[in-house]
Amino acid sequence: MPKKRCLFCREWFEPYLPMAKLQRVCRTSKCRRRFKRMLERARHRRHPQRRKERRARRVVRFNSRPSWSTASSCTAPTGETMSMLTLQRTQRNRATPKRRRA
Ligand SMILES: [Zn+2]
Repeated sequence: MPKKRCLFCREWFEPYLPMAKLQRVCRTSKCRRRFKRMLERARHRRHPQRRKERRARRVVRFNSRPSWSTASSCTAPTGETMSMLTLQRTQRNRATPKRRRA
């Protein structure tokens, strides 16, 4: 049985065989979360603008459907209020404040 070493905690683990070539971390949620975070950071480093573009597209889509704004109790969401809402939401979802590199 092939065993692999976790990228983060350095423990030996048995990979899930169909995905053994791709799997690089053990099955603990701590290491999996850290690995996912690593991939997301790498993607963000490659395409720093993409998140803003996605948000802008979402605002356009939201405004193209007036029924969505009347369905919720939101009062007349323009593009501005929508982007403010999403901004607040993303800030609230961030558990720890962004660390800056020295
Ligand atoms: Zn691990």
